[in-house]
Parts: sequence; structure tokens; C-alpha cells
Amino acid sequence: MREQVYIREVGPRDGLQMAKIILSAEKKLEWCKAVAAAGIREIEVTSFVPPAVLPQFADAAEVARGALLIGDLRPSVLVPNLKGAEIALALGMPVIAYVVSASEAHNLANVRRSTQESLADFARIVAARDAAPGPRAILVGCIATAFGCTIQGIVSERRVSEIAERYAEIGADEIVVADTVGYGDPGAVRRVVKSVIAATSPRRIACHFHDTRGLGLANVTAAVDVGVRAFDASLGGLGGCPFAPGATGNIDTEDTAFLLEQLGFDTGVDLNAIVAVRRRLEEWLPQEQFSGAIARAGLPKTYRVGRGGSSGG
Ligand code: ZN
Repeated sequence: MREQVYIREVGPRDGLQMAKIILSAEKKLEWCKAVAAAGIREIEVTSFVPPAVLPQFADAAEVARGALLIGDLRPSVLVPNLKGAEIALALGMPVIAYVVSASEAHNLANVRRSTQESLADFARIVAARDAAPGPRAILVGCIATAFGCTIQGIVSERRVSEIAERYAEIGADEIVVADTVGYGDPGAVRRVVKSVIAATSPRRIACHFHDTRGLGLANVTAAVDVGVRAFDASLGGLGGCPFAPGATGNIDTEDTAFLLEQLGFDTGVDLNAIVAVRRRLEEWLPQEQFSGAIARAGLPKTYRVGRGGSSGG
């Protein structure tokens, strides 16, 4: 039995927030269904931001509702504040993600308030979750700009673990360490993730890397080395942040799954199927930049799922 590593597809949220075309809710759900059919069980399907800020997500409730109907899928939504969380809770979303930037300047640009105020709002979200009827939603606390910030520059490693600790004290079930602008490197990833694990164990830790400077997959390997078993990734490497100038896409879902399988882990991902979904996406979003080596070069002939296993080709 190979150890499992979880990949959460964040393309429908992170990948689309800077896209030039507004994709229909129907296509977004088709994307989610196809990704789920290719073996990915977690998808961040949308963001409950005001449509005036990001018109791409004006259909957030419709997409969230549709995603709840996809079998074998545990959809999550991103919420910027209590109001967004209340909508998500009312819809019955099983996983709700919230973001605080480790960089004060990025937090102000992103949600127009201090990190302290953002954490206070997270406490209100926890209270709303605890008071909500029905199954208990999992609250994910994301720490953006955990390795540096395009606005502020240096973000101290200590500050990241302090925010992680606060998240855990307040009631986060999972912590995501996010390199929003691609400043991380394997050494920093090892140090920061280790201290976040120490501050928040036994909660699940996930990493969210952007490949802005080409170190995305090296950072995945570093995070795996220190015990991380969950990663955010985006099909075709789509993505960016509207408030982080020069930001590019997330690490590529296909390449991330390939790397993790080659490292001997079970991602559950059918690589040929996931590349086929990406091809469809390229047709839908012709103006976007797609990255990824596996889609370009194909799987090596020597590739075997689970080293000598069944499908995968
Ligand atoms: Zn991101």
C-alpha cells in the first residue's frame, strides 16, 4: 500500500480569478465533474467575493450548489469574510477556506483590513460554523504570502508560525501555507512548514505553491520531506492573484501528480484523464497561458501507476 497524498484542484477558483473570459457556471461544473472523474476528490470550486470585485464569481452560489451534487467530491469554497462564510454555511458546503496574509501590506490590498482584524473575523466564522445546523463544516485557514510579498518584501518566518498558531487556537481544522507570489524555495519551505507543523499539530497541513519562479515542484518535494501530504494545484498551471503584481499560475496539477506518483505516493489521479480535461480547458480559455511539462511531453513509456500497477499507460 502506497501512502496517500491529496491534491486539491484550485483551478476553478485561483486559476480563474484573473482569467480574461468569464466561464459559464455550466462549464465550471463540467470542469469539476471531469476532474473528479479523473480521481481528484477535493476541488476549490469558487469564491464568495462580491461580484463587483471579481465578476468571474458572480455565479458562486450556483457553482457551489452544483458541486455538492457531484459524487465522490468534497468541494470547498473560499470566503473573504463572515458574510461569505454565512452564505457557504447556509448552502451546506463541507469545507470552507479563509485567507489571512502573513504580509500586512498584502492583507490590506487583498481584503482592506489588518491581519488582526482578519483573524478576529475568522473567530466569528468559527462561531457561525459551531452554531450552524447540520454536519460540521471543516474550516481551512490559509496563510497567504507565507514566503514573502511583492508589496512588502520580506515576511518573517516567525510571523507565519504565529498566524498558524492563532488559526489553530481560534478553531481552524486545517492550515494551508501559501506561497502566493512564488518567493519560496526548498530551504524556506522546510523551515516554515516545520514550524507551522510544530505550532498546529495534529491538524492537516497543506501547501499552496505558485510556480512564478520555477521552484514550485522543488518546493513540493521539500514539503513532502517534512511531512506534508496535501497540495493545492491548478490544471494547466492556471492562476494568479489580482493584488500581487507579476504573480503567475499555481503549480500544475498534472505535473504535481506525476511528481508525487514518481516519489512513490498514491494521488489517485489518472494522469491521462487529467491531461484530457486540461485540453478541454485550453479550448475554453484560449487567451490564458497554460504551463506544464506532462501535457507538453506526455508520460514516459516507463511510467507505471504504483510502479508496475494497472492503468495509466
Ligand atoms: Zn494562489
